[in-house]
Amino acid sequence: MPAFKKVTAGLVLRETDTKEADKILTVLTPDLGKIAVIARGARRKSSKIAAASQLLVYSEMTIYQRGDWYFMDESSTIALFDGVRQDVEKLSLASYFAELVEAVICEDQPSPQTLSLLLNALYALSRQQRAPELVKAAFEMRLMALSGFAPMTEHCALCGREEPEEPMLDVVQGVLHCRKCPLPGGLSLPLTRDSLAALRYVLYCEPKKLYAFTLGKESLRQLNHVSEAFIASQLERSFRTLDFYKSIKIET
Ligand SMILES: [Zn+2]
Repeated sequence: MPAFKKVTAGLVLRETDTKEADKILTVLTPDLGKIAVIARGARRKSSKIAAASQLLVYSEMTIYQRGDWYFMDESSTIALFDGVRQDVEKLSLASYFAELVEAVICEDQPSPQTLSLLLNALYALSRQQRAPELVKAAFEMRLMALSGFAPMTEHCALCGREEPEEPMLDVVQGVLHCRKCPLPGGLSLPLTRDSLAALRYVLYCEPKKLYAFTLGKESLRQLNHVSEAFIASQLERSFRTLDFYKSIKIET
């Protein structure tokens, strides 16, 4: 029997089938950060750890370490997020959230705030009170800020105006400016006044109020466009799960 068992909460960011009936899971925990966990026999129907070994399931896990790996011993499900799981559009968006978190988070770095941000996003999607596109943009920008990529949105980077006329965000340099105050070398996208206000809100509001705002259709579309371009530019990569989400998203 392994000597050092540990109980932790964990959310599965990725599941990969491996030999026999096993899975390798990428799990986000509050104290251990992102860890790789082997779930032995998790693909068998009779397995007691089958439920906890699925993508986007949040559980209390008993794990133990052997060499470089953690192994899951027991589990007790905390949240399955059925509202997300039963809707292909929401499930694809949530899968993108998981891939994005995996991309920005470092191995073995405690990350309780990131876990809490992702859990709240999943609850917000499940409860159906907020438009998925609103949850998406708010989650994306807040996660980037939490991961050290916050854009400077207080004032125009050139003239210093707090409320730029025709505001634009340079997604490469991560700064706000007026259309009339061009910055060399970047890639700037327009924001409406409302989408700028929403951007500032999601960067600085209390974590629990992250989705407590409304935005008109055009401003919301623009905010999503800016947040996607900002992520692509800052992380220098694209996301397969985002491409899939956009291919099946129902236009409203
Ligand atoms: Zn300016």
